[in-house]
Amino acid sequence: MKPRIGITPSPTQDVLAHGTFERYAMARPYVDAVLAAGGVPIVLPPHDGDAGALLDILDGLLLSGGGDVEPARYGEPTIHPATYGIHPLRDRFEAALLAGAFERDLPTLCICRGIQVLNVALGGTLVQDIADQLATPVQHRQQENGLATHDIGHDVDVAADSPLARVFGVERVGVNSYHHQAIMRLAPDLVPVASAPDGVTEAVVLPGKAFVVGVQWHPELMFERHPEQLKPFLALTEATSAQKLATLNR
Ligand code: MN
Repeated sequence: MKPRIGITPSPTQDVLAHGTFERYAMARPYVDAVLAAGGVPIVLPPHDGDAGALLDILDGLLLSGGGDVEPARYGEPTIHPATYGIHPLRDRFEAALLAGAFERDLPTLCICRGIQVLNVALGGTLVQDIADQLATPVQHRQQENGLATHDIGHDVDVAADSPLARVFGVERVGVNSYHHQAIMRLAPDLVPVASAPDGVTEAVVLPGKAFVVGVQWHPELMFERHPEQLKPFLALTEATSAQKLATLNR
């Protein structure tokens, strides 16, 4: 059986002839990447309910990109003017999914906003606006340099012998960059495994779990032009197969 990968969507306000409707939008590239990695994509609509009931029908979890995490979730009472797209229900839902995924040791890949949600869930904090709060020569919003979504915005250095080095097989990877926030204080249990030339944390892993990886870039927007960027998705689906075997043998 193919691994069932739950993907979290982003809320949108869709203006139609008969009104404006809040919807949960699933960006197609995540679906394409999960399919290309041999998984079955399943969209997980945010709600206050039993996140565990969803996790029980999944083999793996993918937290997607999107708007900013509510700063109160990491103990910051002030909302920076550049912070946007706060959606407390999505924040709560993804935190509940992560808690349940850790309990079940469900393989989990966290992309862009996802790495930030992961860091906050484990007690870390975020830079609310890189341009305002970090003096950096690196452009982390590559659209401002006129680059396309699949273009390489900057390199990341991958920690030698880390789980991410095993995923990519090299220690320098070109990545795209579409974030105005970043990890500030790393959560105590997370280990940084890749960084941009300015020191911004671009990937983390959670040791002690089968597979919990966060990346600050968007591999799903790159893998068609840069096949190595399918590797994080392949690592996710491969980890789900290993977990199933481990469960059977328990
Ligand atoms: Mn970046």
